[in-house]
Amino acid sequence: MNLQQENFFLKKFPQVGEGSSEWIQLEYDLQLGLGSISAVIKDIKAINNQSLQFQFQKHNQNRLILESWIDYEELEQSQKIDEMCYKGFEFKDPQKGHVFPTGYIELRDNSESKKQHTVIMFKIAVGRSQCIPYRKEEIQSRDYLKDKNSNFDSLYLYDEANDQQGSVFLHRYVLFDKEQVLPMYQIKFEFDDSKEKDLQPLTCDNQCSNKAKFYCKNDDAYFCHDCNFDIHNNNQQTFNQKHHTIEISKKEKSFGNCKVSDHQGTKLELYCMICHEALCVYCKIQGSHSQGEPAAHQLLRISDAYKKALHESKVLDPQLEKRKNELTDHLTNIDQKIKDVSSKSKNIEDRIYKLLEDGLKLLQQKTKEKMCILIGDQLELKRQYDQIQWIESFLKYQQNVLNPAEYLKAWSRHSQLRNKIISADKYQIEEISSDIHMDAQPIKITSENNVQSSQNKQNQQDPNENQSNVLRGNPSSQFRSQILGNNKNSSAKDKNVSMSNFVVNNNTSRNQIKGQSTLQTIGIMNNGATSSEGA
Ligand SMILES: [Zn+2]
Ligand SMILES: [Zn+2]
Ligand SMILES: [Zn+2]
Ligand SMILES: [Zn+2]
Repeated sequence: MNLQQENFFLKKFPQVGEGSSEWIQLEYDLQLGLGSISAVIKDIKAINNQSLQFQFQKHNQNRLILESWIDYEELEQSQKIDEMCYKGFEFKDPQKGHVFPTGYIELRDNSESKKQHTVIMFKIAVGRSQCIPYRKEEIQSRDYLKDKNSNFDSLYLYDEANDQQGSVFLHRYVLFDKEQVLPMYQIKFEFDDSKEKDLQPLTCDNQCSNKAKFYCKNDDAYFCHDCNFDIHNNNQQTFNQKHHTIEISKKEKSFGNCKVSDHQGTKLELYCMICHEALCVYCKIQGSHSQGEPAAHQLLRISDAYKKALHESKVLDPQLEKRKNELTDHLTNIDQKIKDVSSKSKNIEDRIYKLLEDGLKLLQQKTKEKMCILIGDQLELKRQYDQIQWIESFLKYQQNVLNPAEYLKAWSRHSQLRNKIISADKYQIEEISSDIHMDAQPIKITSENNVQSSQNKQNQQDPNENQSNVLRGNPSSQFRSQILGNNKNSSAKDKNVSMSNFVVNNNTSRNQIKGQSTLQTIGIMNNGATSSEGA
């Protein structure tokens, strides 16, 4: 981008004022997402594209909307920031979708040498998500294809491994529609994790690596338990015995100095409850809170404000607790429903297997009946054919070994035998049809309601449509997606009902029944083959 373009870009998409409430909120969200208080925002550009915002709102009414922060380096190859501001998020391939994380912010280059980062904050309308199990290693390589028949608004990538560890709050969604993605801010920030190490618990100042437990006012130094005893309680060093040492936890915290240029070096002693700002005495006497409206602001001693905040943060927030309880209730409810659906499904599955088993038994019986008759006929006809062959070959043998007189005698006997065979009653062959028919009602599985996306609910014209969910054609995939869709919500609570269980169960049972029927068919054929061999 050249300077002219940059200026145009800036005019169209204004910077968010440093220190504004929007800025402060975003910085806190960023720090939370990185899990680090050392992230400092340097620049925020608000992508105030009204037509994109209008589209987004219109398209995503009633949909669940989340925030997603993505490292700009992640997107750089596929889209330029200024183009994204005008055209919105461009999917490389809309059929394959794009993965949007929420919660933990993943930086592409997290090495300590890299301090400057740029992220884009999106609003994503995930709506109702279909749950797809995945493994973390697959995330880059795997494509997630759009299912045109799906009623879901997005995919939710369910990471069972992560769920079990439960350490990182990170959830991934796959979206396919650019109208479900709204770029909000481009945020440049500095992030230096090593700064945070300075905030780690203090170590002993007596050049040992133990954790410090005591503070000596006279030495202005921190000591571990052993060093503190050596230095301050050793009888030979009477001088040091007069030192005043306290436990670190009881040491009064330093609140630092005022950063206003005229007040430098003055201790922060006051706290304004309205501006949420720490002040020094000069701020009150001649600075920001000396005149006008701020002069009337209620100020507390900073140590009191700190104690108050500590106390307040320890008390459970009743609203938050209420929300947590509501969520727990819903989760318990859903767990129960999952168990219900699962047991009802198991029940029907058993009935289907019973039907299949009965059907197979009938088929086996019918087949056996027909086979017995056919094989019986086959044996008798073969026997008669063999008999003719046998007597004729005996005649030929006699031709070779007998003298003419003896042969003439044999010939007359043989002719009688031939006549006997020819005049014998013909064997009655059973008229057996080879047809076997199946008269089966198609199995219908119905339920009272179907999973609907919020959008479908809204746009539905015919109230009867979709009321019952009749599964035909390819029932297993719809069935599974429903179960998985429901199961997602329980994943956080009930790990016993795992998605892979459903998948594995389905496969095993199907294979079992397949194996069974094939074996039975082979059994029938084997019987037939064995009897005809005996002929
Ligand atoms: Zn001391
Ligand atoms: Zn020590
Ligand atoms: Zn104030
Ligand atoms: Zn001051």
